[in-house]
Amino acid sequence: MKTMTCKELGGKCEQKLSAESWDEMVQVMTKHVMDKHPDVAKEMETMHKQDPRKWGKEMKPKWDAAPEC
Ligand SMILES: [Zn+2]
Repeated sequence: MKTMTCKELGGKCEQKLSAESWDEMVQVMTKHVMDKHPDVAKEMETMHKQDPRKWGKEMKPKWDAAPEC
């Protein structure tokens, strides 16, 4: 289990998000931004259309670096 904040994942609040795997974290973060930050969700959607791997490329190393807990 790893925990990261919304902010670390490109969002805008200090909400802690936990997941067992990177795939799960992507889902948790996607759900969080759609609930709390519709504007960020829209930006991420636009980014995803331009380059589906861009967000993951930027955020995955942070996930890898986050301590296991
Ligand atoms: Zn947030």
